[in-house]
Amino acid sequence: MGPIMIYFDNNATTAVDPEVLKVMLPYFTEKYWNASSLYEPATELAQDLQKARQTTARVLGAALPSEILFTSCATESNNAALFGVARANPGRRHIITTKVEHPAILEVVKELMRQGYEVSWLNVDRNGNLDLGQYVRALRPGGTLLVSVMHANNETGVVFPIERLARIAKETDPKIVFHTDATQTVTKLPINLTGNFRNVDLLSFSGHKIHAPKGVGALFVRQGTPVRTFLLGGHQEKGRRGGTENIPYIIGLAKAMELGEAAGEEERTRVAALRDRLQAGLAERIPWLEINGKDADRTPNTLNVACHSVEGESIIMMLSEAGVYASSGSACTSGSLDPSHVLVAMGVPSGALQGNVRFSLSRYSTDEEVSTVLDVFPRVIDQLRRLSPFWDKVNQKPAE
Ligand code: PLP
Repeated sequence: MGPIMIYFDNNATTAVDPEVLKVMLPYFTEKYWNASSLYEPATELAQDLQKARQTTARVLGAALPSEILFTSCATESNNAALFGVARANPGRRHIITTKVEHPAILEVVKELMRQGYEVSWLNVDRNGNLDLGQYVRALRPGGTLLVSVMHANNETGVVFPIERLARIAKETDPKIVFHTDATQTVTKLPINLTGNFRNVDLLSFSGHKIHAPKGVGALFVRQGTPVRTFLLGGHQEKGRRGGTENIPYIIGLAKAMELGEAAGEEERTRVAALRDRLQAGLAERIPWLEINGKDADRTPNTLNVACHSVEGESIIMMLSEAGVYASSGSACTSGSLDPSHVLVAMGVPSGALQGNVRFSLSRYSTDEEVSTVLDVFPRVIDQLRRLSPFWDKVNQKPAE
């Protein structure tokens, strides 16, 4: 074995669960048929596909398996949802979303803006919570086409009250379409599309965040929701998404849903306890540490911190040398030197914006790993601060 490897970057992607891999393998080597072919073994495959759809629908509490469309990733699901709704409802030109969405929503909304749509961007406060008053004022009966609000933020884990937001939208005007990007919450938080999420019309998520492989995702489309076809081609997915179905990956996704469901509350409680221990330990050991979203409702696995007077990329590099893998900002925005749009929207102090680290745990995370990070991370910060011109070494605070 090489040096220690602690993987605390599960909001970026997760390890495929061995049980998921096991159920997928026969579909590469033995049952590699096209699910549309008519010979006997291929027709069995169509049944396996249907079972996967039923499982996915059941875990999400959807009324009908046909409300689940399999896609290639959450980015595709989000694009399909937003562009599909816009094209199906040309009479409405107003969209509501938040300033802290993932780029897979932000960039689509910006494209719709370029096409002439008017957008209301919702603010968040220092804890990452939405401004509900602004939301209510933004809704336009007869005018708003779509509300798209993520269930939980990928950088901070802050959870938005989707249940309430969707109900308010429907009470304002039942024709407003409500979409949520639940990529960070499926199997991590309770979602029931005929229960707490009954007013949600569209919901996106991805396999690789829940211990299924990269390259598969899904979009829930409530029956009757006006959405135009997004991938023109064959008859697959009831003609709503052409392209030969990615059977092994879809089977893997359904298995991951089942495993996530079985792990349930027990796993959430265990992971949240690890995260809370990490948070408390870091707060105790590191002065001038911002814990972003600490007073908000958060996903159990996410801890976002910002250290004054140091730089995130250096922290990540030094952690990596110590065998600890985490992210600065999100995987999608790292590589750019711009501060995270999420932390900017939350009003994180400018001296801490660059020193951002996201730890995201999983079912495989252990107490021992948390102890190691509690040992390594404060030493990394201490070392970097000793080199930083922005840190007052005498008074142990940011330089004036
Ligand atoms: N939405 C959110 C909230 C995410 O966290 C991510 C991935 O980081 C995505 C969308 C994009 O997911 P995918 O990589 O499956 O396209």
